[in-house]
Order: sequence, then C-alpha cells, then structure tokens
Amino acid sequence: MSWETVIGLEIHVQLDTKSKIFSGASTTYGAEQNTNTSPVDLGYPGVLPVLNKDAVMMAIKFGLAVDAEISRRSIFARKNYFYPDLPKGYQISQYELPIVHTGSLEIRLNDGSKKVVGITRAHLEEDAGKSIHDKFANETAIDLNRAGTPLLEIVSEPDIRSAEEASAYMQKIHQLVRYLKISDGNMQEGSFRCDANVSVRPSGQNELGTRTEVKNINSFRFVENAINYEVERQIDRLEDGDEVAQETRLYDPERDETRPMRSKEEANDYRYFPDPDLLPLEIDDETIEEIRKSLPELFDAKVKRYTEVLKIKENDAEEIARNMQVAEYFEAILENFNHDAQLISNWILSEVIAVLNRESIEINAFQIEPSRLASLLSRIHDNTISSTIAKDLFNQMLSSDETADEMIEKQGLEQITDEDSISQFVTEVLDEFSEQKDQYLAGKEQVLGFLVGQVMKRSKGKANPKLVNELIIRQIKR
Ligand code: ADP
Ligand code: MG
Repeated sequence: MSWETVIGLEIHVQLDTKSKIFSGASTTYGAEQNTNTSPVDLGYPGVLPVLNKDAVMMAIKFGLAVDAEISRRSIFARKNYFYPDLPKGYQISQYELPIVHTGSLEIRLNDGSKKVVGITRAHLEEDAGKSIHDKFANETAIDLNRAGTPLLEIVSEPDIRSAEEASAYMQKIHQLVRYLKISDGNMQEGSFRCDANVSVRPSGQNELGTRTEVKNINSFRFVENAINYEVERQIDRLEDGDEVAQETRLYDPERDETRPMRSKEEANDYRYFPDPDLLPLEIDDETIEEIRKSLPELFDAKVKRYTEVLKIKENDAEEIARNMQVAEYFEAILENFNHDAQLISNWILSEVIAVLNRESIEINAFQIEPSRLASLLSRIHDNTISSTIAKDLFNQMLSSDETADEMIEKQGLEQITDEDSISQFVTEVLDEFSEQKDQYLAGKEQVLGFLVGQVMKRSKGKANPKLVNELIIRQIKR
C-alpha cells in the first residue's frame, strides 16, 4: 500500500516592535533577566493591556503580502492555562476572529515546479516568559523578559505533502517577513519557530489521518528531519495494525527523533473567551490602503524585474533577491553604476559573497560601501583598469576607505590603451621570443597566449589585453 503525507504548519513569528504588544516594556533581546518587564507583563492585579499599533500594522502588512483577507473587526481572547512562565494564568491571543485569514503563498521546489499553499489564518498574540532549568540546582528560574512580546502565528492549510515542501514553505515565509521588515527572523533567538502537524493516509483516501503536532522547531533542516521521522514512524505503526495517537511531540535534534510531550486527553481545555479588557480591534479601509501602498517589492517581483528589465541570468537574479539585504546592496550599486547589471551581479555573487563567507558577516557589515564598489565597476566598464587589477583593488578596499579613482590615481594603475606604448612592449617580446614567434607563424597558434602573457608582465598588468592580442598578431604577420 502506498501512503500520502499531509502536513500543516503553524509558524510563530516574533514581530519587530520596539515595545511589547500590550505594554510599554522594551523587547530588546538579551537584557538582564526580568528587566524588560512592566506590571502588565508581570500580570499584576488592576493593570490594563493597551494594544501596540505597530504590531497591528505589521500583521496587516503580512496579510496583504499573502493576498489574504484583513478582518475589519477582530477580537482578542484569553487562552487559559497554568504554567509558571505565564503570570496572568492566560495568554492573550485571537481565536474565533483573527486579524488575517484566507491567504496563500506560492513556493518553489527543488525540481523547479511551483505549488500554492493556503494560509488559513494569521493572528496576533503575546509570547510567554521562559523557564530556566540550569541556573539553580533543583530549582527553576523564571525570566519574564519575553512575556508579552508580540507574535504573529501563521497557520497553513493542510496542503503540504512532503518534508521538502514544508521546508520550502517555511523558508518562503521567513524570507517574506524579513522582506516586509516585520521580524528579524532570528531562529537562534527564537524569533522564528514552527509547529509541524503531520499525518499520513492511504493514497487516494479523502479523509485526513490522525495527526501529531511536533512543537518548537527552529531550523529548516530540523523541520525536514522531524517530518521524515514522523512519517516513517506513523507508517510503521499503521502497517503493524496500530493506531497513531493524536498527541504533541518534541523533536530531539541530537538523536534525530520525535518523542511524545503530552497527549490530547491530558491536554488543557483552554476555555477561550473574549478578553473583557480589550475592545474589538477595528481597522478601516483607509489604513489598509495606506499599508498596501507601503509594501516593498517582494521576491517574485524582484526576480522578474532583474531578469526582464535588467537582463540578469535567472539563477543569479534569484541568488541576489534571496536575501533582501543583498538585493538592497545590489540596487544601491545600480544607483551609482547602471551600465551593466550582470557585472554587478557577478561581482556580488563571487567576490563579495566570498568575503562574507570567509569573515562570517552579513552584507550590512561588509567593509566596501555600494558607492565604492560602483566606482570600481565603472572603471572596469570603461576599460580604465583590467579585471585583474580590479580584483587587487577590491582586496585593498577591504582595509581602506579610498575610492577606485583615488587608488588608480595614487598607484598609477590606469590601463594602457595607447597603441604606441603597447607596441614597444610587443617589439621587445617578439625579439626575445623569436622562437615562439616562428612557431606561431608555422601554425602553432597556442603560443599566442604565452606571448600575450609576456607583454602583460612587462606592462605590469596594465596593458589592455585585447589590444595586446591584436598588436602581437599584427606585428608577427608584418
Ligand atoms: P489546533 O487548533 O488544534 O492546533 P487546527 O485545526 O487549528 O488545530 O490546525 C492546526 C494545524 O494543523 C493547521 O496548520 C492545519 O492545517 C493542520 N492540520 C489539521 N489537521 C491535520 C491533519 N489531519 N494532518 C496534518 N495537518 C493537519
Ligand atoms: Mg496547534
């Protein structure tokens, strides 16, 4: 019997607001424990939550980017459960009426095929605090800095059919929230994590199988591993005649397996009800239109423009657009040098990326500003310098703040394009290497490369190689 895998993802994105979703406390990561807290986050009696407008704007931005409906009226609800890191005894979330619903996202798979994944809903909620088990022996410490941090929970339809698709979808959402600048997407710091709901069913069956929910996955590789493990485990059970229990599981990256956390029977009944402390959230058309106008150009549109308007190879366009900061860097160069977009792309994807990898830095920390790289590329483009010299200058730029023109001037690097000067070098070389000259005349054309190399050497790399070629042939045949 063959089996079909069915997956739905719930992705938690930490929104990049300055303050928390219902209080004025800071959201800065890594502050001393329990210092980013206000009486609201601590759940003191008598306090009232005040909704952070920025979090609402960011949720709408996301909704528009995935072609979703934006609810003109949505409701905050209390999700009740007891846990030490949740001082109020409930989490404020959205339940029946989320701010965003019914959207979709197109993903691209390794074989080049495309697929649309439905987005059921995206709702606003607050994060809980953190339990720290390794600070004190036999005791657990609580850090409430994270309590009240705004989250957008993005829930997909059960449209995903494989671990590869799940990872592609997660990556596309990750890229999107970074493009929209609504989250830093930092997975190590927990700003982007997902729960994977996984089930299997006999191929051809309409009804969904019983699912398990693998919690708190914080890497694209782990989501694939966890799903592959779950699928195999569930199929094994079903083929042995056992049932799959509907339960919550945890993925353990060290052992590459999932383990049960708690089963549905002992799961909490959250007793959701509308939070009486918060008014319904109402959004007018004008606000939505304003946000729609502020949306940046997104990945797919960028790739299209790069290939169709700027005439860059498709693979290169995708490489550049994959990371929005890289795309911004590329476009900043283009503002100063718009003669050859493919040349810019080549330099970013080879030289620049090599430095970033070598130094483990992001492009924002890259030493060479777009305007300086533009100055270098301009001088290659107008034949002032050869690309060999340009690479040398590029390396020098890493530890100086001079422009290409300043360097070329100071170091006298201007390419020699004057025929008379080059001809002199050619005459010298042909005198010294008359044997090679005769070989060329006898039909051994490969020696031309050697002769060009000799002329380039004499010109200290400054002669225009194309001209050198021409002049050698002209002199030999004379
Ligand atoms: P809950 O509120 O209990 O988490 P939801 O119905 O909201 O459950 O679904 C949560 C996620 O689980 C969604 O992404 C949904 O697509 C997915 N899902 C629901 N049923 C299944 C199933 N049988 N197999 C795989 N995924 C499922
Ligand atoms: Mg769930």
